[in-house]
Amino acid sequence: MSMNGNPPRRASFALHSVTSAQRGSVCLVGAGPGDPELLTLRALRRLQSADVVLHDHLVSPEIVAFARRGAQRIYVGKRCANHSLPQSEINRLLVELALQGKRVVRLKGGDPFIFGRGGEELEMLARHGIPFEVVPGITAATGVAAFAGIPLTHRDYAQACVFVTGHLKDGTMNLDWEALARPNQTVVVYMGLLGLPLLCQQLIAHGLRATTPAAVVQQGTTPEQRVVTATLETLPLAAFKSGVKPPTLIIIGEVVRLREQLAWFEPQADRETAGTEPSVMPVRA
Ligand code: SAH
Repeated sequence: MSMNGNPPRRASFALHSVTSAQRGSVCLVGAGPGDPELLTLRALRRLQSADVVLHDHLVSPEIVAFARRGAQRIYVGKRCANHSLPQSEINRLLVELALQGKRVVRLKGGDPFIFGRGGEELEMLARHGIPFEVVPGITAATGVAAFAGIPLTHRDYAQACVFVTGHLKDGTMNLDWEALARPNQTVVVYMGLLGLPLLCQQLIAHGLRATTPAAVVQQGTTPEQRVVTATLETLPLAAFKSGVKPPTLIIIGEVVRLREQLAWFEPQADRETAGTEPSVMPVRA
C-alpha cells in the first residue's frame, strides 16, 4: 500500500493511444546482445504472452524459444545488403497483425532505439493509431564491453563515450572525424568491420595517436565471442588475419588497455582456437 492508502501503481502497458477493444498492440522488445540471460524480465514476460513474434537475424534461437508455445514466429531477418524483408514490408506486417487484434512482439537485437530502426517502426504504428510499448535492451556496446573486460569509461582514461555506425555508404563513412578523434573518449563503432581500415586511417589522420589501443569483438557475450586487440595502426591487419566475422563491435580508446587485467569471460571459441595461430596482436605500450 502506498502512503495514501491506495495500492502502489505498477508501471502498466503504456498505450500510445487506446482505440477499439479488438485492436492488438505491438511491443518493441530489445533482446540484448546475445546471451539469453541478458534479457530483461519484462522482455521475457512480453515474449510469454505474445501471439506473434517477429525477429531479426541478430536474435538467437534460444531467445526466440522463450516465446509462448502457441505463438507464431516470423523471421524477418536483416543482413546488410541481403534484407530478408524490406523495412517497408516489416512496417506493413506489424500494422496488419496488430489490426487483426494480435499481441505482436517485435524482437530486436540489443536495444531497439540504438541503430535498430525502432523509431521508424513506431512512427508507422503511431500513424495508424496502434498502441505500442518499448522494452529497452542491453545494447551491444554495453553488453559486449562488459564481456570483453573493457570499461567504456574510466576516470583516468575516458570521460566520454560515443556510439557511431561505421556502415559504409558508397564506400565511405559519413562521420564527424574531428569529434571522434578527441582524446579522453571511447569510440564504439557498430557495423564497422568492412570499413575498419578506413576508420583507423581517418582517426589517425584527424589526430588520434597510431598507438591508441583498439579492439574488435565478434559475437560478444556468446560462447563464440572472440576479441582481437591491437592499435589503431595494426588493428585492420590483425582483424583480417584473425578471420573475425560480423556481428562485430569496434572499441577504440585507452580503456581497451584495461582488458589485459580485466578480461574475465572465457568463451568456448577462445578455448577452441587456443594453440592455433595467434589471433590477438599485443597492445603496444
Ligand atoms: N540495436 C542493436 C544494434 C543493431 S546494429 C544494439 O543495440 O545492439 C547491428 C550491429 O550491432 C552489428 O553489426 C554489430 O556491430 C553490433 N552487434 C550486435 N550484437 C553484437 C554482438 N553480440 N557482438 C558484437 N557486435 C554486436
